Amino acid sequence: MMHFDNSWTRDLPGTFLRLDPAVAPDPVLLVWNEVLARDLGLEVSRDEATRWFSGAEVPAGAEPAALAYAGHQFGGFSPQLGDGRAHLLGEVLGPDGRRWDIQLKGSGRTPFSRGGDGRAAVGPMLREYLISEAMAALGVPTTRSLAVVATGEAVWREEGRLPGAVLARVAASHIRVGTFEFYSARSEVDKLRAVMEYTIARHYPGAEGALGLFDAVVAGQARLVAQWMGLGFVHGVMNTDNMALSGETIDYGPCAFLDAYAPGTVFSSIDRRGRYAFANQPGIMAWNLSRLAEALLPFIDSDEARAVDIANARLDGIAGVFRAEWLAVMRRKLGLLGEEPGDEALIDDLLPAMVGRDWTLTFRRGFEGLGDWRARWLERVGEGWEARLAAANPAVIPRNHIVEAALQAATVGDMEPFQALLAAVRDPFGPEAGREGFVLPPPEGLAPYVTFCGT
Ligand code: AMP
Ligand code: MG
Repeated sequence: MMHFDNSWTRDLPGTFLRLDPAVAPDPVLLVWNEVLARDLGLEVSRDEATRWFSGAEVPAGAEPAALAYAGHQFGGFSPQLGDGRAHLLGEVLGPDGRRWDIQLKGSGRTPFSRGGDGRAAVGPMLREYLISEAMAALGVPTTRSLAVVATGEAVWREEGRLPGAVLARVAASHIRVGTFEFYSARSEVDKLRAVMEYTIARHYPGAEGALGLFDAVVAGQARLVAQWMGLGFVHGVMNTDNMALSGETIDYGPCAFLDAYAPGTVFSSIDRRGRYAFANQPGIMAWNLSRLAEALLPFIDSDEARAVDIANARLDGIAGVFRAEWLAVMRRKLGLLGEEPGDEALIDDLLPAMVGRDWTLTFRRGFEGLGDWRARWLERVGEGWEARLAAANPAVIPRNHIVEAALQAATVGDMEPFQALLAAVRDPFGPEAGREGFVLPPPEGLAPYVTFCGT
């Protein structure tokens, strides 16, 4: 049983389209997150997971819906995106009373599909499963993955014919910056207000009005993106429709982790200008938050000029909020205790020294090879840094070359490399010894890693 309590479809009429997922003809459960299911209080057998999370059958109490949203994609506004291949099954309440969306992705066409087929291939859905579970283990706010079910249908992509799959994901919600932009662009102020009030009630019950909501979202995004920057994570497609008001990482597409550090690193094949490059992420976060602020203007002040002034003052503050979060992340990664006057310079000077070095292992192993900088750091860090570094810096991240090999094997029916990798990324802070295959960077001379959005 899943006990649904569907507040979105109940409270926000006119913001979604009710429709059932496509029926998967021959579903096969590829991965099933039993631990997460138990944590959420779901009583779901493997058989039920196979049917319910593939679209083969709609579970009792679900009210499948495709949600409307807009979004700025690579800087340009699309007034209507929406769930083009996803169905919100409904919401469940965990044992602690927290509310979670259960959503299917790759579950068929909707009126928001535009030219798309509404489908997803096994590889990209397993990729989202793996990376989101890795992020959760790394302590980063993220949507989670409950299951990937092969549908038994083929999908056609650039590579040719691929096995289709549906991902079942769990999210604090699917409210995006683009959700607000959708109603703002249509001047549907009543719906915009309803979505705003719903968001406050669901995520930030202490927040007062539009400004209170905005400040809470800024704080959450700053905390989130600071963690990404600490881990060398490149989201890859930080469009406003892929930014969740909950502060969770959402929509894992062309994302990847740095191997060697270079600030301009881009993995996504479609990000030709490097808009979403590693080092650009904090700036893009602020840009996206400006779009949210614009949508909230009618509720900030009834006098538009005054609303703009107030919003601009808030936007000016974002860089400082982010900087504080980032410094906190970096202090922890460097094993620093307390705060000292030279810390900021020490942290800032690390980055240029890191260029070309493996991001993950350089932290983990105490900055071997960074001679002068390391001497400064050693003077500051004090006793016992080994344990502090090991607790703050992962040994295992989902290394691109290993992810790729695991997904290729899975696509031809061998799930074993995927399962082994999944087990490794679920224990990121464990020892290096005995699992060097997951720890070490790719062999030198490998072509730069490229991810494809053709998901
Ligand atoms: P994304 O790049 O995954 O953030 O998606 C951007 C927009 O494209 C969203 O509205 C998606 O629902 C839609 N979309 C992506 N892939 C497909 C697909 N295969 N079929 C239909 N819509 C899609
Ligand atoms: Mg998206």
